[in-house]
Amino acid sequence: MSALFNNYSRRPISLVEGKGTTVVDSNGKKYLDFTSGIAVLCLGHSHPELVNTLKEQSEKIWHTSNLFEIPGQVKLAESLVKDQHLSHAFFCNSGAEANEAAIKMARKHTGKVNIITFENSFHGRTFGAMSATAQEKIHSGFGPLVDKFTYLPFNDVESLKNSIDDSVAAIMLEVVQGEGGVNAITEEFAAAINEICSNSNILLILDEVQTGIGRTGTRFAYEQTVLKPDFVTMAKGLGGGFPFAGVLGTSQIYDTFSPGSHGTTYGGNPLGVAVSQKVVDIVFQDSFLIEVREKSEYLISQLEKALPQDQITIRGKGLLLGVVIDNVDVAPIIKKLEDEGLLVCSAGANVIRLLPPLNVSYEEIDQAIAILEKVLLNKSVALS
Ligand SMILES: *Cc1c(COP(=O)(O)O)cnc(C)c1O
Repeated sequence: MSALFNNYSRRPISLVEGKGTTVVDSNGKKYLDFTSGIAVLCLGHSHPELVNTLKEQSEKIWHTSNLFEIPGQVKLAESLVKDQHLSHAFFCNSGAEANEAAIKMARKHTGKVNIITFENSFHGRTFGAMSATAQEKIHSGFGPLVDKFTYLPFNDVESLKNSIDDSVAAIMLEVVQGEGGVNAITEEFAAAINEICSNSNILLILDEVQTGIGRTGTRFAYEQTVLKPDFVTMAKGLGGGFPFAGVLGTSQIYDTFSPGSHGTTYGGNPLGVAVSQKVVDIVFQDSFLIEVREKSEYLISQLEKALPQDQITIRGKGLLLGVVIDNVDVAPIIKKLEDEGLLVCSAGANVIRLLPPLNVSYEEIDQAIAILEKVLLNKSVALS
């Protein structure tokens, strides 16, 4: 029995060094890291500019609390909302906290309580975020949950339309469900949500904790849809590995929070702001995002070439991709990939989730595909 609580099923390797897409474990074995710390390390491990930024800031000031002006918070907020209909930011420390803030603001702003979320969503582990998460296994043993969340099937226009009434404060969703299996919103569903939200006092909360900050090939995934969110929540990629999160909202929401109504001790701390500004400066460049989309197309086309298409489908957006193997448990495949030097995540029982750093090289993509091909085409391991 370890001195740690038993809430993770950890893989028995410890990664002790990382550079770009490469990591090394405590035995000196090298891997290609296509987990990016679960979509966190958008610029890979130990990106030199992020390392320098963190070093420089750490020698100036680490923490002051929001009792004081924190240099850089306003500039970071401006960089995040630039050229969008969004206009304000609140900074916090994790995805769950960002979702909590959005849920609280949506209730306070509308004066209503009901929030619609979708099956197989994932919004985090705090009470509000867990209650928003429509997955029984995540609630089990922790009830009673926060009241008034309604769970609907994802991408089902009919059931959504039937559930809309005056009690609904907000609709909350992931543009591509990450943990829940790499399921993207359909155009039809996005159009229906857009229509509902523009014709009523129902707010749209987009949880872009996993999809945001370039992960899907645009700054935010919603930009590839007709959706016009009132809130966008962010975490994971936002700090490039430094714990940092936030919520963006429109000017209509601005008056919802007043001094004292919400807060967090660490939110928007100088270290996080400095690193996040550097991340955003790099990732939000058009040329960088174009490359993410080109790498995504390349990765998808090479996967489709390498793997038998009658048994495997590729889905997702940008560099948040799922290799779906129907009726096959991917856990032993993921172990085998690890043995061969490729680290990947799962997303449900039969989806291998690929989350390379956004600045992964074509050579690294080729190496990853060769390993996937080798493991997946080995019939005794994978496909029957
Ligand atoms: C990871 C994730 C969260 C939770 O973020 P934490 O930082 O672990 O609290 C919320 N929503 C989505 C879509 C996520 O992928």
